[in-house]
Amino acid sequence: MRCPKECIIEREGEFVPTLKSKKDVNRIETKLIRSGEPEPRIMGAVSMPIFQSTMFETFGGGSYHDVRYIRLNNTPNHLAVQEKIASLEGGEACLVTASGMAAITATLLAFLSNGDHLLVQNCLYGGTHDFVTKDLPIFGITYDFIDGNDSVDSWKRKIRPTTRVIYVETMTNPLVEIADLKAIAEFARSNRLISIIDNTFASPINFRPLDHGFDLSLHSATKYLNGHSDIVAGAVIGRKDLVSKVKHRLDHLGGSLDPHACFLLHRGLKTLAVRMRQHNESAIEIAKFLQDHKAVAKVNYPGLESHPQYDRAKELLDGFSGMMSFELKGGKEAAELFMRNVSIPIIAPSLGGVESLLTIPATTSHSGMSPEERAKLGIGDGLLRLSVGIEATEDIIDDFRSALDDIKQSRLVSA
Ligand SMILES: *Cc1c(COP(=O)(O)O)cnc(C)c1O
Repeated sequence: MRCPKECIIEREGEFVPTLKSKKDVNRIETKLIRSGEPEPRIMGAVSMPIFQSTMFETFGGGSYHDVRYIRLNNTPNHLAVQEKIASLEGGEACLVTASGMAAITATLLAFLSNGDHLLVQNCLYGGTHDFVTKDLPIFGITYDFIDGNDSVDSWKRKIRPTTRVIYVETMTNPLVEIADLKAIAEFARSNRLISIIDNTFASPINFRPLDHGFDLSLHSATKYLNGHSDIVAGAVIGRKDLVSKVKHRLDHLGGSLDPHACFLLHRGLKTLAVRMRQHNESAIEIAKFLQDHKAVAKVNYPGLESHPQYDRAKELLDGFSGMMSFELKGGKEAAELFMRNVSIPIIAPSLGGVESLLTIPATTSHSGMSPEERAKLGIGDGLLRLSVGIEATEDIIDDFRSALDDIKQSRLVSA
């Protein structure tokens, strides 16, 4: 463990978890199982037990932020899961939070204050978009949008003397576009900006932002990291001094993760690599099937050669992940019929779980935008977004085939 002072309270005769990080363990599949585990095992327990205790005895000294208390995100369950997540992306430190939005808001508020300016990608997760455009201005923090696929000069023109942060996402929602991430990290470094990336859609299996020069990587752990659609959680990963700044802000904002949720996240993480392998493999098959089907107008998936950033995706990512979107030739009407016809995907928002999920972003995640704003971003009213689960690929394809054939019979294809 990298923070012995904070996590080990040594006292004679008392059991002490050391949560050693395995220096000899390099591959991510092994880190998922072996990092962030107590050593010695607690009473021999193979699985990390839940410490459902608000506070812990203090043995003198230490500041308020060092007291062990659930809100301060430093109980044994926090330390274990934080160590595991940090190791996945090669970060010095990790902070888990009550939700993805808690990670995003606490991080932005840690590095921005009254009078500061930030650059953000123009196609952000809805909650982040609202926070930046509606909440941050209340605190005197201004922003400009950048196009992640535009030239460095176009970003440079937006920089002001007060610009402190640049914020992007690994893959955009729902068109799954991939910005020039290397150039953005480099741009941030040469202009002394803190670079922050929301890596939720890729997961640490497919992309590790710190290796590419980003300062902080954020996750909605609600999605792939936990993977079972049963908790809401977030994570911030990066250098110790930066993460500690976020922790101080979060200590006051109060967005801490409950120990039971820490336990579930710690448990869910162990299967991340095998889950992602299935998401990655299945999604490419499904994307190809859709692309070849006569009833389908367009498929957005970074693993397809037709994707505008296919070469970049291939260079940056170890896998293309399980998120895609597509349009049917019959438009909105056909999309609604498809939703009624399929039986495997659950019609629900969110993503990254073991079950396939299907939504129409125009009526869910992007319903807050006007039809004009959506059109500008290329989000049609009939665009379907699919989070591919880990069911048998053939079953999903069979299900889609029969749903699309029904649409063909209803003649919506020629509409
Ligand atoms: C879901 C999501 C969030 C927000 O996470 P919560 O856990 O719901 O707070 C942020 N960013 C992305 C990319 C997401 O998909």
